[in-house]
Amino acid sequence: MALIKYKKLSKARGVTVPKDLAANLGMFAGAAVDLVEMKEGILLRKHVPTCVFCGSVESVDTVKGKEICAKCACEMREEINSKYA
Ligand SMILES: [Zn+2]
Repeated sequence: MALIKYKKLSKARGVTVPKDLAANLGMFAGAAVDLVEMKEGILLRKHVPTCVFCGSVESVDTVKGKEICAKCACEMREEINSKYA
């Protein structure tokens, strides 16, 4: 962490990430990113798949467009099986 670039927000509050900075971080056009609210400001990072139910980032997969961890998927399967079996 050393590179600090000064940018202004657009009218739509957007910001363009400088090409060299984005390339250094492996962020390319169309890549999903996370905007994380921090005490100091907003952290922009590559998207980290996160379970929509518990917030875990371990063993997360996408099912029907929603990210879910293996633990929650197992719990959901057990709950569904108990209700509909
Ligand atoms: Zn989960």
